[in-house]
Amino acid sequence: MRTIEHWIAGTPTAGTSTRSGPVFNPATGERQASVAFAEPAEVDAAVVAAAKAFETWHDASLTRRARLMFAFRDLVERHEEELAGIVADEHGKVLADARGEVVRGREVVEFACGIPHLLKGGYSDQVSGGVDSYSFRQPLGVCAGITPFNFPVMVPMWMHPVAIACGNTFVLKPSERDPSASSRIAELYADAGLPDGVFNVVHGDKVAVDAILDHPGIAAVSFVGSTPVARYIHQRASDAGKRVQALGGAKNHAVVLPDADLDDAARQITAAAYGSAGQRCMAVSAVVAVGAAADPLVERLRAAAGQIRVGPGRDPASEMGPVVTPQAKERVLGYVERGVAAGAQLVADGRDRVGDEGFFIGPCLFDRVTPGMDIYTDEIFGPVLVVLRAETLDEAIELVNTNPYGNGVALFTAGGEAARRFQRAVSVGMIGLNVPIPVPMAFYSFGGWKASLFGDTHIHGPEGVAFYTRAKVVTSRWPAGTTDPAHIHFPTAT
Ligand code: NAD
Repeated sequence: MRTIEHWIAGTPTAGTSTRSGPVFNPATGERQASVAFAEPAEVDAAVVAAAKAFETWHDASLTRRARLMFAFRDLVERHEEELAGIVADEHGKVLADARGEVVRGREVVEFACGIPHLLKGGYSDQVSGGVDSYSFRQPLGVCAGITPFNFPVMVPMWMHPVAIACGNTFVLKPSERDPSASSRIAELYADAGLPDGVFNVVHGDKVAVDAILDHPGIAAVSFVGSTPVARYIHQRASDAGKRVQALGGAKNHAVVLPDADLDDAARQITAAAYGSAGQRCMAVSAVVAVGAAADPLVERLRAAAGQIRVGPGRDPASEMGPVVTPQAKERVLGYVERGVAAGAQLVADGRDRVGDEGFFIGPCLFDRVTPGMDIYTDEIFGPVLVVLRAETLDEAIELVNTNPYGNGVALFTAGGEAARRFQRAVSVGMIGLNVPIPVPMAFYSFGGWKASLFGDTHIHGPEGVAFYTRAKVVTSRWPAGTTDPAHIHFPTAT
């Protein structure tokens, strides 16, 4: 069976560990590969390689770094179909969806191609007599990324292109459930001409993660994954003195007002709830139907859920693939059972589309869900959509704001006044107005509020550049034969 190895100092590396994990084909349920699990020794080797590469890479000219990103960007585009296939085979999502994530990841590389512009500092002439001030930003050193299974190409690309373009070197610990894409990305960087050691991949589990969090040679950690792990990463890496951004889980609401185009809202919400089998941090997982919208909306959602074609990711006819592992399937089925037991109405039951092979679950839709039920309070991360009913927009906003997560939210309405009130009132980082998955483009930053983000900086875009660099301000004076006295008192501008 194929073993997926680490990538350290520009070379595939088996490592010394005897531990490994299974990589499944979720469409068949078969174990198709093993992935090596790093011990602290492999993490250390990767950090040593990255630290050595930093000695020269941080001094590479802006032009060279930008050209490298352009070359990498072209390779990602040329290998789009191959990368999408790797994602479909290990994650399970359908090819069209996998292509979409490769494109959205590439857009961050395109953003990073503009690094000479992004790193321009400020200059203030004559802040005092004969004195000028200017600022510039420098890279941090070795940065690490720890990423989830659900976007094995895109989420790591939220991190490494920006970090590397800023002059850092990088150690990536991708999800152990679909690790191959990261190894392929490492090869593409090498083909683009990136010096050995600038980008490294260590595969593994908590052992590798903890070694990263504690390693004194790592300056900053970017994490994307579930909320309990995000909270832990933020705490432990902060304690070790690192800069940390840790993006967590989500429960994204779609609020639907009676004046919305209900046909359109139902189509959009269905795609956002069940795309990638609900395994997106920006998936719509809770609908709040306001007033008279409820009955006609639920009927439309029920009909749309029944029409989704569930099948293997490689089959062009499939619209929704399986979930990622047998454990994920059992977990989702457990929530459906508990939702029924709690008294919610299961109006679309995807359990009858489970099948014998692979980790398939069809779209499930619950109506008349109440805020105390765990199908509402928990992030299920599967093809399960729940509908709550509210009398007014204010009641819907209250629900959204009471929820511990604050990643994304959508409002469907024809009314500008309601939309404006909504966007100002919700405690959520990314808002869609008649847009169900409001993922910002790469030149904005991505991130939620509350339990969806630990740390201060959102990811990629301008905040990504700020995260991977630190600023210096220089105050300069070039005396040319002046006889100005040096002031003993605290100097002020003259
Ligand atoms: P996860 O938290 O289980 O794993 C994420 C990473 O952390 C993996 O690399 C994993 O190996 C590591 N990890 C897991 N458990 C750990 C532990 N106990 N100690 C140390 N490291 C550990 O997440 P997942 O299941 O791979 O991904 C799904 C989750 O990611 C969902 O909650 C989803 O909402 C979230 N997510 C969030 C965003 C966002 O932008 N906020 C984006 C994508 C996914």
